[in-house]
Amino acid sequence: MTAPEQVGPAPAPRTGPGAPAGHGRLRVVHPRPAMDLPAAERAVADLLRALGRDPASVHLADTPRRVADAYAELLTGPQFDLTTFPNDEGYDELVLARDIPVQSLCEHHLLPFRGVAHVAYLPGSRILGLSKLARVVELFARDLQVQERLTQQVAGWLQDNLAPRGVGVVIEAEHLCMSLRGVRAPGSRTLTSALRGVLREDARTRQEFFALAGTGRDGLR
Ligand code: ZN
Repeated sequence: MTAPEQVGPAPAPRTGPGAPAGHGRLRVVHPRPAMDLPAAERAVADLLRALGRDPASVHLADTPRRVADAYAELLTGPQFDLTTFPNDEGYDELVLARDIPVQSLCEHHLLPFRGVAHVAYLPGSRILGLSKLARVVELFARDLQVQERLTQQVAGWLQDNLAPRGVGVVIEAEHLCMSLRGVRAPGSRTLTSALRGVLREDARTRQEFFALAGTGRDGLR
């Protein structure tokens, strides 16, 4: 796991007519290990053979390529501009984006887990375009993951890059490796949370976050 790299000055003033003063822009890229698609296709064909299937059969002929492409897409994070704005109004209450879709790949079984994230921050000197909270979730979700680490990474990244007074992240997700195999508990959801700054230290703010996120006092429904 490589840390996201920031390219370009941050924050850099945008020039041009109508650009708000103090507009901060950060190009976010998340370097990944290089992928070898032909090798992935060969490996999928080998896996099919090992499972007693014939990858040369008419129905499976394109499957290795499709599987390799699908994993490549699922493991490629977005690149985006993270635009921040000065908190001129001195807004000092929680900003929360609820029900951000999450889809990721469990690193233990290479099966998807999917659900929603609720992401909140308590602004400091800058605020963030709301759609960008979803992009930050996607940045870390498109990787081989465990839900606990994904939750921590989203919270840590926001704390480090936005320097808010606090951050709260709750993720609720269903893991296909639990629903389809193993304990076979369809519909059961795993809930994780990560807190930083004031949300971690102050019980009242923490409770407000969990109430707004709809997850109850302790992060549980
Ligand atoms: Zn799993």
